[in-house]
Amino acid sequence: MKIVDFEIHRCRIPLDRPIGDSQVIFTEHFMTVLELKADDGRTGVGFELQQGMPISALAQLEGQYRYNGWSSVEGQSPLGMAMRIGRPRGGNVGASALGLATETAMWDLAAQQAELPLYRLFGGTDPRVRAYGSTLDFHLDESEFRSWMGHFAEMGMQAIKIKVGHPDVEWDLGRLATVRDVLGPGVDVMVDANEAWSTKEAISRMKRYDDEGFDIFWIEDPITREDYPGYAMLAAEIGTSRINTGEYLGFHGKRRLLESRGVDVLNIHGQFQASRAAAYLAGDYGVPVSLGNTLMELGVHLAASLPECLYLEFSDLAWNRLAVEPVKFEAGHAIAPDRPGHGITLDRDALAKYSEPG
Ligand SMILES: [Mg+2]
Repeated sequence: MKIVDFEIHRCRIPLDRPIGDSQVIFTEHFMTVLELKADDGRTGVGFELQQGMPISALAQLEGQYRYNGWSSVEGQSPLGMAMRIGRPRGGNVGASALGLATETAMWDLAAQQAELPLYRLFGGTDPRVRAYGSTLDFHLDESEFRSWMGHFAEMGMQAIKIKVGHPDVEWDLGRLATVRDVLGPGVDVMVDANEAWSTKEAISRMKRYDDEGFDIFWIEDPITREDYPGYAMLAAEIGTSRINTGEYLGFHGKRRLLESRGVDVLNIHGQFQASRAAAYLAGDYGVPVSLGNTLMELGVHLAASLPECLYLEFSDLAWNRLAVEPVKFEAGHAIAPDRPGHGITLDRDALAKYSEPG
């Protein structure tokens, strides 16, 4: 199988709620959809998201890809390319256009060629992964917040993650009280501060939550991403809550984080191949991983293939409108599609509806 052609779609998808955290707010997705076409008629699909700013016009996206991307893709075997280990040297590392979308489409084609669902190509045997509902609620009012939690509870979620990091600690505590009120006991509760705090603030907030009787399964990104000594201090100071971080770091940063012993759950994110390597490295430190939100929930394939993935995040976002059949969630689990490839087929009507050449 060889890749012979490509097609790009530029999409703008309005969200059904403003999403965000202590630092940002977004009201729409700007998505690039890349289709890689093989000489046997199969197509692989990949995605990229740009938050908070329109992506370039379609003609420009096509031009950029043709200029810097396509020359290394055209004529290649998808599996060979997906498996390739790049040499991370030189000032131009990471400059290639649509790198994530290309890698996703490659794995899609490779798994189709193997006639396996992607999680099985990655060595997985069980398509089910524990998932948590993630409200991305910082900009929702109390009744919207309650209704999203109710939505995830109705889906059978046994775990929920909410945003914290408000300047007023009472706001955080009010949100935690609402979670307890709506979901009751027996649910894993995670909080995400999105780097709102200093190390000492993080310690004092976590102590306050604990004093108020809130049992926190993990605290995510309490301090800035590269403060490795700070994370080591938190790991020593914070009692039973796990520290989840790494979402914003590349492989190099994840390695430094693991070396610092400042992480209890490594959030692996990004391209499949690099995330598999990060999970392998985390295992060497005895650290489990989790998957943050991935476009079209495709991280489910990675999560289902790993021996120590605690949870996969699900925020029920608008990008799933582009899929004929999105990844399914039931009884607190995400289910990796049992179709060859990654299993997400584009809904052509939705693609036309949200396409905006710009
Ligand atoms: Mg997060």
